[in-house]
Amino acid sequence: MLRFLGYTPLNEQAQHIHKGGVTAALPSPPSLAGLSKAALGEKLVAAGVEPDKAKMRAEQLWRWIYHYGVTNFAAMTNVAKELRGTLAEHYTLARPEIVTGQVSQDGTRKWLTRFGPGTEGECVFIPDVGRSGALCVSSQVGCTLNCTFCHTGTQKLVRNLSAAEIVGQVMIARDALNEWPTQARPLNDGDRQLTNIVFMGMGEPLYNLDNVAEAIDTISDGDGISIGRRRITVSTAGVAPRIKELGERTGAMLAISLHATNDDLRNELVPLNKKYPLAELFDAIRQYPSLGNAKRVTFEYVMLKGVNDTLAEAKALVKLLAGVPAKINLIPFNPWPGTPYECSEWDVIERFAEVLNRAGYSSPIRTPRGRDILAACGQLRSESVKQRASERLKTKAEAEA
Ligand code: SAH
Repeated sequence: MLRFLGYTPLNEQAQHIHKGGVTAALPSPPSLAGLSKAALGEKLVAAGVEPDKAKMRAEQLWRWIYHYGVTNFAAMTNVAKELRGTLAEHYTLARPEIVTGQVSQDGTRKWLTRFGPGTEGECVFIPDVGRSGALCVSSQVGCTLNCTFCHTGTQKLVRNLSAAEIVGQVMIARDALNEWPTQARPLNDGDRQLTNIVFMGMGEPLYNLDNVAEAIDTISDGDGISIGRRRITVSTAGVAPRIKELGERTGAMLAISLHATNDDLRNELVPLNKKYPLAELFDAIRQYPSLGNAKRVTFEYVMLKGVNDTLAEAKALVKLLAGVPAKINLIPFNPWPGTPYECSEWDVIERFAEVLNRAGYSSPIRTPRGRDILAACGQLRSESVKQRASERLKTKAEAEA
């Protein structure tokens, strides 16, 4: 069953003017939530803070914005009242607008967020069995890669998300889970459900590396949101020339969407493979900084019935991964309307996993989560796009009637 979460629209502070019988919304002031320390300093200077004091003030604000998660300047009790007033005149602390928020029976939460007109993306929180849970964030709206089994590929790329929009997704989740500490309730790491971040939502993170790296700096900062770099995983379809750079710039964990063990099949499933074939991809993976037992590469392998799920392929996978510190995530294919693919049978997936386990790999089968709220990639957004299209048709029909 589906419940809708309450939500706070970004335009909380939007003002309305009434002119000649027409009501128009004025754009809200820009938000500081999600900005890097440097960008925050620049905004302070723009609001009139003396440049030589901006850095210190930015540090002060940082703690309020990212450690306590406050949503208004008035709460910043150690900031001079006058400055609080100036900030409130120029800026807000609003998060990206939440269009819908849903909670699945199994506790999975999904948000459709609007980053701007017609620019929607989604993020999903997946609670674990224990205390930990991962938030799956989007790095782009849409995607250019066109992997044949992925629904996002059927949508046009609209744009890269900014670092602030990526961080905004994490802030939305922490708001909803009520996991910002207060002075009366200092939450420790062990008290939180949201412990990990995975860049496995919409988009290809390595095509937006500057913003992803900036977002990771903000999310992992120990004076703020404080989700450590080892708890942040970036998943790529295999943009080989950027893989080493990702490790050097972010220190994040690496995940590779592999899905096939030979170039012919991978060319078909992940067309990016034609540009960066397996040999080149694995050369790049081997250069990822500080790989070892404590820092393994996660290989994602979506189980597609009759396509990539034979035992011979499981054995080929073991061979391919030789010498790479690896974990394997078997993902049951999540079907979407119109897809030609089906998910492998459960016993086929189990037998596939057994081959990997016998070779010494931990290969958890990712249990399908949040199916009742369409938590598969791209689904919620496209459902809402469809809905809007049908609303438009309805309005048109009504206008013509
Ligand atoms: N572009 C990045 C991150 C986004 S996709 C990447 O390719 O890694 C996150 C993961 O979900 C990828 O492994 C992707 O292949 C997988 N995926 C996409 N559509 C899926 C579906 N319908 N069912 C199961 N997994 C899917």
